[in-house]
Amino acid sequence: MSENNHAPVHRKAVGIDLGTTFSAIAHIDQYGKPQIIPNAESERITPSVILFDGNQAIVGTLAKQNAVAEPEKIVDFVKREMGRSKAEFHREFNGKLYTAEELSAIIIKKLKNDAEKYLGERITDAVITVPAYFNDAERTATLHSGQLAGLNVLQIINEPTSAALAYGLDKLESDQTVFVFDLGGGTFDVTIMRIENHHIRMLASNGDHRLGGKDWDDIIVNWVAEEFDKVHGENPLLDLQSYQDLYNRALAAKVQLSTRPATTIVHNYNGKSIKLELTREDFEKRASHLLEKVKTICEIVMQEAALDWSKIDRVLLTGGMTRMPSVREMIRGLSNTEVAEDVSPDEAVSIGAAAQAILALLKEEDQLGERVLPVEVREQFSDRDGGLMKITNITTHTLGVVLWDDAKVEEYVFPMIKKMTAIPVEMKNSFGTAKANMKNAIVRVVEGESTVPGECTPLGLCDIELPPFLPKGSPVELTYRYDANQVLEVTVDAFGKQNRVSIARNVGLSEMELAEATADLSQINVM
Ligand code: AMP
Repeated sequence: MSENNHAPVHRKAVGIDLGTTFSAIAHIDQYGKPQIIPNAESERITPSVILFDGNQAIVGTLAKQNAVAEPEKIVDFVKREMGRSKAEFHREFNGKLYTAEELSAIIIKKLKNDAEKYLGERITDAVITVPAYFNDAERTATLHSGQLAGLNVLQIINEPTSAALAYGLDKLESDQTVFVFDLGGGTFDVTIMRIENHHIRMLASNGDHRLGGKDWDDIIVNWVAEEFDKVHGENPLLDLQSYQDLYNRALAAKVQLSTRPATTIVHNYNGKSIKLELTREDFEKRASHLLEKVKTICEIVMQEAALDWSKIDRVLLTGGMTRMPSVREMIRGLSNTEVAEDVSPDEAVSIGAAAQAILALLKEEDQLGERVLPVEVREQFSDRDGGLMKITNITTHTLGVVLWDDAKVEEYVFPMIKKMTAIPVEMKNSFGTAKANMKNAIVRVVEGESTVPGECTPLGLCDIELPPFLPKGSPVELTYRYDANQVLEVTVDAFGKQNRVSIARNVGLSEMELAEATADLSQINVM
């Protein structure tokens, strides 16, 4: 996605894992080795939490620590809102409305500013990761966030691909099939990857973008609240401050139960107090339906890849929730496979993104015929024949067009690009107009696996004016182009006229809004 035709001599690329609960930033050093870049607080990961204080936006641990004291000034879990329009989601601070893109841009700015101080150089380019099932709107919103933070976004890549890349970086010599299991704070992703001759290929992917650690936290929160209500006849969740406090206690209890068989939770509200004991066994029982959901998705993705577990050489765990023993046992039992422990779940995604970023710069160098990056870096990212290593992604949703079925007298969805197609891809098809003398050909672009239009997500329209008096069945040519960022471009051609629409630009911020938001964000001091 770089718009630079002439690479400036000094470019520094990073990989950014923009997580629901934590974010991380990594780079490739001069020896070609991936490194996490610590923030100004010397932490390797930064909580994705913002505290608005006047004209200042404080991001990270300090903001998180203040969540209880000043919940009204806090924003967290922004990732769950990405892709929603300003009308659907915004937060207001100091009289200004912030979209999910802008809030995420503030988090990226914190990562970027701190990394620049640490490295002592300006960061120009980035690859940002998203969950594999993110749709166009969500990907575009993420892309805009990076741009708003002042970065040239080289690519948006899938978190599991990124984790697999981090894992595979020093294992490219051995061909293997890897099952990447990513259970984070708010989202769940599974991906099957094949590593063969330094080529990382995605075979299948599935997930649930509303399933993650927060759901396990909520189980504890709701249980404590119920018990509190039973004892004191009051619901401690009605007060925002009490809710935040209980939420933090629940999260701590959950983490403790990963290493201890039992924990104690104390909660005070309105001068009243409760002290409860929670065992790991009881917690696991209460959360068993969540684990069941996770298991089902694992089985579905295996079916989609048409593989049985014996074909999986390695299971790779990423996402903080994979530290939970019940999650590990479930996946170990299901796969009967060795579980890779040599990747830090918190760091793998940003490291893979950093690798992808350097690959993009190396590719640009090849195209321009000028080499600036150290030879050691190029060597680390080359295949057996001396070419650059390759990564192939697939589409995670079917992209279709709504058509008219004359025989059944109803609309249906024709799949233009099917789920699990290797990208980038371009598909063309010719259709006949539905009636005689149509004034316009209106292409309705949808995303989803159903043939029923109502069951798919509408992505946008692309229309074209037709010459008068055309007979029914006059040909209209349709092209869907899906690029490496999984952003869709639709073109309609008919009778010498053409209309091209980048579907992604129809959602989220417009070019003008983007420019305005960039100007607005520069007024905020991000710390
Ligand atoms: P991520 O989005 O990948 O950073 O995942 C963060 C999620 O993992 C949050 O829900 C955390 O509470 C959870 N988490 C982190 N460490 C642990 C642990 N040791 N045990 C259980 N959950 C954890």
